[in-house]
Amino acid sequence: MTPQLKDTTAPMATAITNISSLVTNNPSLGRGPLGLIDDAAVVIDGDRIAWVGTTSKAPATDSHIDAGGRAVLPGFVDSHSHLVFAGDRTAEFNARMEGRAYSAGGIRTTVAATRAASDAELEATVARYVAEALRQGTTTMETKSGYGLTVEDEARALRIAARHTDEVTFLGAHIVAPEYADDPAGYVDLVTGPMLDACAPHARWVDVFCERGAFDGDQARTILTAGAARGLTPRVHANQLGPGPGVQLAVELGAASADHCTHLTDADVDALASGDTVATLLPGAEFSTRARYPDARRLLDAGATVALSTDCNPGSSFTSSMPFCIALAVRDMGMTPDEAVYAATAGGARALRRTDVGRVAEGARADLLLLDAPSHVHLAYRPGVPLASAVWRAGVKVA
Ligand SMILES: [Zn+2]
Repeated sequence: MTPQLKDTTAPMATAITNISSLVTNNPSLGRGPLGLIDDAAVVIDGDRIAWVGTTSKAPATDSHIDAGGRAVLPGFVDSHSHLVFAGDRTAEFNARMEGRAYSAGGIRTTVAATRAASDAELEATVARYVAEALRQGTTTMETKSGYGLTVEDEARALRIAARHTDEVTFLGAHIVAPEYADDPAGYVDLVTGPMLDACAPHARWVDVFCERGAFDGDQARTILTAGAARGLTPRVHANQLGPGPGVQLAVELGAASADHCTHLTDADVDALASGDTVATLLPGAEFSTRARYPDARRLLDAGATVALSTDCNPGSSFTSSMPFCIALAVRDMGMTPDEAVYAATAGGARALRRTDVGRVAEGARADLLLLDAPSHVHLAYRPGVPLASAVWRAGVKVA
């Protein structure tokens, strides 16, 4: 064992050594924007990372894992999913692949099935997809309500979600509930009144689907402002199906993220580049609806912070795979592998305003993904291949 470089009263718990290439997302620790360290080691102590450096300088520890010349990166941070649902939309996907267009209205199918489902069924669904994502390296995952659309069903969805993640979003304004089809203003009153009262205690974020067929800019502003007054930070489904006010509104209200960003004007790009609002791109949605991909290159070149996320939901993007989204982003959205990996880790952390995840550094939560590959580039170079070899979340090996 090499000499210990840090004074510690007790030996550290576990060292992962012989890492061919470690993504830290901290340029002060290594090469380039990803802060890459070759022949690296990481020490995990409890739920935190205690030390990061090269294998030859790693301190003595209780136990030791040899990465065998494979790559390690921070666990993925998936900042956008809709996991509290029931029902199946295979037929709708099939119809779309036969040429029918996607519209926001398909959400109603899932609303009916979700309302009819028991708590246990919904709980099992959330647990299943969180576990599925974890096996692929996702160690932080946001999820939303939005398939209940009544006071009781939205609050139920958030209570269930909160048992599986700290990142819970109130999306009562996903679409106008079917009962309010002729009275959208009445539905906005419900969302900003009794529904928000019931939901705010269970959520961290408030979200609106600001889109033709869902909520317009004025309605979205009313809902996000009401949520913010109750301590929820805004995030917005913006500019997915066409141009609209969502991105500008997100930036104006200080939203953590504008999600989708597929149809952007130059002014939208400028707003994202100059504000704190992250542009979260969800290429699984464009893949699964056979739609045009967002132009990540344009956003990055303008200086915007970009996150990648799955949008995992049964209608428009039924994937929990961050590696799949990375591959799409590289192949079809003009991102380099480095940029896509950064967006899927540090970018997602920014979109959730988290500093403890999405990076590998002393003090960060010990969320690590060991790839069965020599570098993170293989996530795009080997699309569709299950490369997650081991996953640690908060220092615990979970997969
Ligand atoms: Zn979504």
